[in-house]
Amino acid sequence: MAPPSIATADVVVIGAGLQGSAVALRLAQAGRRVVVLERSVPGAEASSAAGGILSPGVEAAEPGPFYALCRASLARYPGWIAEVEAASGMHAGFRALGTLEVALDDLHAQVLASRAERLHAHRLPVEVLDGDAARALEPGLSPEARGALHFTDEASVDARALARAVPIAAARAGATFLTGQVRRIRIEGGRAVGVDHERGRIDAGAVVLAAGAWSLQVEGHGLPPRAVRPVRGQMAVLDTRPPLLRRVIFSGHGYVVPRPDGRILCGATMEEVGFERGVTAGGLLHVLKVGLEIAPALAQAPVVETWSNFRPASPDGAPILGPGAVPDLFYATGHTRNGILLAPITADAIGALLLGERPPVDLAPFSPSRLEQR
Ligand SMILES: Cc1cc2nc3c(=O)[nH]c(=O)nc-3n(C[C@H](O)[C@H](O)[C@H](O)COP(=O)(O)OP(=O)(O)OC[C@H]3O[C@@H](n4cnc5c(N)ncnc54)[C@H](O)[C@@H]3O)c2cc1C
Repeated sequence: MAPPSIATADVVVIGAGLQGSAVALRLAQAGRRVVVLERSVPGAEASSAAGGILSPGVEAAEPGPFYALCRASLARYPGWIAEVEAASGMHAGFRALGTLEVALDDLHAQVLASRAERLHAHRLPVEVLDGDAARALEPGLSPEARGALHFTDEASVDARALARAVPIAAARAGATFLTGQVRRIRIEGGRAVGVDHERGRIDAGAVVLAAGAWSLQVEGHGLPPRAVRPVRGQMAVLDTRPPLLRRVIFSGHGYVVPRPDGRILCGATMEEVGFERGVTAGGLLHVLKVGLEIAPALAQAPVVETWSNFRPASPDGAPILGPGAVPDLFYATGHTRNGILLAPITADAIGALLLGERPPVDLAPFSPSRLEQR
């Protein structure tokens, strides 16, 4: 027997991470009745744990549909942040200072040089710097730095602040947030018609699965067996006063993300450990080594915070966006390493589908069906 109905909505969203909340904001702004279901605290999982790097240049090194998606999302960021900040009354720490990828040895210098050639051939925005020019931009950078790629129009954001601000903005726009676990997606007559939540049934015209790394735990998800898996990332935060660095800097093994108050996030591990939470000695060793190789003076900085969480990793690292085989069931999951970067385009694309509009980008390369052939 069906559980008692506790709500009805135009759209029910499973998960109030950045993806679910951003989609809910878009739909609520368009006047749709949206219910967002979150089993813990909105934004408190992967979205709060992220470095907040917005870097198509490093993360999607080859031109193609994924790179184009990342660029389309980066282009939306300033306007989207302004909207979220105005609606939530919070600051999200968006800083468009560019990203550096530094070569700390000759082999990495060669890799960067050939990447720069490919990017230039496609007229993509990147500057090639020698070691001195990179240190002129970031005096705290290691004397070992042989050179760097400078992705001049890239940015970063305070992911933890953003992951709080977007649900607040969505709620103020009219979305309803309910606490509790979604057990399954209800399919009737071959279509998604709502969900069974721990407090009862929610009937809806459409369902959006945005449950991050836990997406395959929702019964009725309709995705291929290994479409999303957890990849743990550990992070350590160092405190520098005055701030030692300004820009996001990648090496070949990880990155540092400076905040304006002098905190510097060092990240992040990529670990296949299932849903085992924790910060480990080996993980800390890895991320601290990354930080100290990039900027040796960090050796003196106190460690002020550590954490870990789970990236929702897809087999090819690209997100799973749009409809699948079940009518009225839509996906906003599998964002892997780039869910912060991809939030605005996810919101616009999934929002458009649900509003009966044409999505701003071709979603075919991100369809769940691509994963069935793997
Ligand atoms: C250490 C680390 C560093 C990262 N750095 C970056 C970065 O610099 N830049 C970048 O772009 N990306 C980065 N990422 C990736 C990014 O954080 C993720 O891709 C993004 O946060 C995914 O958003 P989400 O909303 O899908 O997932 P989440 O934020 O995890 O949200 C999913 C939500 O669904 C809820 N949920 C799950 N199952 C259910 C259920 N059955 N019922 C109700 N609720 C449910 C969960 O509680 C959770 O709140 C990083 C990730 C990690 C872990």
